[in-house]
Amino acid sequence: MSQILKNKIPLSGLSKDEIGQFISQELNWEKFRIEQIHSWIYAKNSDNFQAWSDFSLDKRVILAEKFAIPLVETKERQISKKDKTEKYLFSLPDGQLVESVLMRFKDRDSLTACISSQVGCAVGCPFCATGKLGFKRNLIAAEIVDQVMSMQRISGEQIHNLVFMGQGEPLNNLDNIVKAIQIFRESVGIGVRHITVSTSGIVPKIIELGETKIQINLAISLHSAKQELREKLVPVARRWNLFDLMQALKVYFDQTGRRITFEYTMLKNINDTNEDAQALSDLVRDLPFPCLINLIPYNSTDSEFECSDRNRIQQFKSIVERSGRKATIRITLGSDISGACGQLANKNT
Ligand code: SF4
Repeated sequence: MSQILKNKIPLSGLSKDEIGQFISQELNWEKFRIEQIHSWIYAKNSDNFQAWSDFSLDKRVILAEKFAIPLVETKERQISKKDKTEKYLFSLPDGQLVESVLMRFKDRDSLTACISSQVGCAVGCPFCATGKLGFKRNLIAAEIVDQVMSMQRISGEQIHNLVFMGQGEPLNNLDNIVKAIQIFRESVGIGVRHITVSTSGIVPKIIELGETKIQINLAISLHSAKQELREKLVPVARRWNLFDLMQALKVYFDQTGRRITFEYTMLKNINDTNEDAQALSDLVRDLPFPCLINLIPYNSTDSEFECSDRNRIQQFKSIVERSGRKATIRITLGSDISGACGQLANKNT
C-alpha cells in the first residue's frame, strides 16, 4: 500500500499497530508519537498535518512529505432535498470507485452510515444496481474504515451506526470486514452492537463469522421464502438452499446469541402475493432462534422490477406477523439521489 498515493503512505483507516509499523519503519520516532498520531487521525479526525500542534514544525513537514490523509478521495457529495441523506462517491487509490450513504432517521438523533465492502459485487441479484457492475475487487480494511472517517470529516458530524449494505457482499470479504469492525470499535468509537452486516446468505462464511463471536447484527437478504423464486432473486441460493441457510443461522445464533434480521425487498407481482407472505410466515414461525422481518419497499433502478403498492406491503406484513414474529417496513431515504438500498451504481448524476 505504501506506493499508492503518489509515493505517500496513507495513514487513515489503519489500526494502531499498522500506524506504529509505518512510523517505526519510516521515521524511527519515539513510541509515544504513535498514540499522538492515532489521536489526530481518529479522535480529532484531522487531515491537516499543519494543525498537529504537539509536533514541532520540522516534524509536521516530515509528516506531510511522507504521509497522506485521507486514503479515499471524495469525488462527489450529493445531499437529498427530501430527507438530507448524503451520498458520497469515493475514489480508491487504484482509481476504482465506491459509494457510501449517510442517513438521518426521523425517529433517531444518531447518524447511520451505509458503507461498501467491495468494488462491484459477484452475487448478481437482478434487481440490484451494484450487481450489474460485476465484481472488481475486495476493499482492504483501511478503505472500509476511511469511508466513515471521510464522511465524518466532510459532514462534520459523528456517525453512530454502520450498516454493511452498500456495494458488495461483505461475507465474501470477511477478513477485511472483521478487521475493519475491530478498528471501528477500538479507534473510531463505534460499538459492535451498532454495526449491521448484511449478507445474501454465504453459508460457510456465516458460520465463520459466528465463530468470531463478534456481537454485530446480522441481516440476511432473503427476498423469498420459496426456494425456486429465491434462486432467481438471490443467485447464491442455488449453491446454498433455504434449509442450509437456516441451519447455518442456528449455528450462528448458538455462537453469538444475536437475533437475526431477514430483509425482504418488496417486488410488485414477483414476491409480494399472499402466498409469498404465507411461505415467509411458515418459514419463520418455528425457527429455533429469534428473528425480525424487515420489509423493504423496492427502490427503482434501471431494472424491470417495480415496488409493491403500499396496501400490498401492509397486507403482506399482517400475514407474516401471524407467525408470531415481528415485521417492520423500512423507511426509504435518499431515493432522489439514487442513494437508497440497491441503487448504488457509481453513477455521477
Ligand atoms: S443485493 Fe447485495 S449481494 Fe445482491 S448484487 Fe446487490 S450488492 Fe451484491
